[in-house]
Amino acid sequence: MRGLTESLWPIRYKPLADELLSSWLVRLAHGHGLKVQTFCNLIFGNKQQVWNRDIDRLAPEWLIAELSSKTGASYQQAFKTTLQSYQGIIYHRPRQSGSLTWIQSLKLHHRKFEGFGLQFCPACLASDPEPYFRKSWRVAFNTICTIHNCMLHDRCPHCGHGVAFHRSDMKHAEYITAVSLLECHYCGFDLSQAPVRTANYFDHEVGQFMRRLVTRLASSAINQADVEDLKVMHHLSKLMLSRNPNVQLYSHLCFAMGVDEIAPNVKGDIEGLDIDARYHLMQVICLLMIDLDHGLRSAVLNKVVRYNHLKKDFDDPPEWYLSLIKKFSDWRLHAH
Ligand SMILES: [Zn+2]
Ligand SMILES: [Zn+2]
Repeated sequence: MRGLTESLWPIRYKPLADELLSSWLVRLAHGHGLKVQTFCNLIFGNKQQVWNRDIDRLAPEWLIAELSSKTGASYQQAFKTTLQSYQGIIYHRPRQSGSLTWIQSLKLHHRKFEGFGLQFCPACLASDPEPYFRKSWRVAFNTICTIHNCMLHDRCPHCGHGVAFHRSDMKHAEYITAVSLLECHYCGFDLSQAPVRTANYFDHEVGQFMRRLVTRLASSAINQADVEDLKVMHHLSKLMLSRNPNVQLYSHLCFAMGVDEIAPNVKGDIEGLDIDARYHLMQVICLLMIDLDHGLRSAVLNKVVRYNHLKKDFDDPPEWYLSLIKKFSDWRLHAH
């Protein structure tokens, strides 16, 4: 296609609000009437294997620069579609492989996505004039849509496969034109027709805390206080999912709130939990955050967690957290 070699492409869609790089790339391909693979081969050449890795996480600089110059979007605008733009905000230690703090893993294996790394809100997809996937849908603490007050989905409700919209094009024969982003790549189910499940919270305050955080995430308005909160919340998630028999923080909190616990066999990293388990766990974490001093004091007194657990393996904790937990280091001394 001649137009693709020129300085600007014939189709120059800009990224939509909170759009994910891979979504933007697929929309651009389809806008040109091309399949994703054909489009990528034409513009990047066969040497550049774009889809055999998590492109949203590992987008190379040349790709961002190319997309920016060919669409007329600013470099910053293009970069913002990548998960790398979350560095220093949601995660702090960049890693080429393995898990990344708060980022859902795609678990790529031979180009197949075996994880449930990309979530979606069916109501958003159904009401978008131009359906697209959000960057914030890759984030583990994000389990709800604050616009539609419903739960996100982390897989196709019809066949149970994870979302991999770019793969829809690949399964069809060459003569079939590009397929909608909304189709499940495996069974063809229209993801915008997935059931809309209302988000029900433990209580009003928890819902408020969670919704505020997610709203700021989706509108790129995470502030410094959130950055620090998220560090603490991630550490709390590790404590709650800990297999250490001396750490019973999670059971203790569930008991105190009168809510059922999620099955212990799902325990691992929060980034690998399914949507329901994450939604549950995030509420417990949010509840603890609302009055962390009181919550942790009670937990330490009940011996379900110790000072050293609160501190251990926590890289670069916020100052306020350190001074808060310090009070529990010699709790017994204070108690007497
Ligand atoms: Zn929505
Ligand atoms: Zn499906």
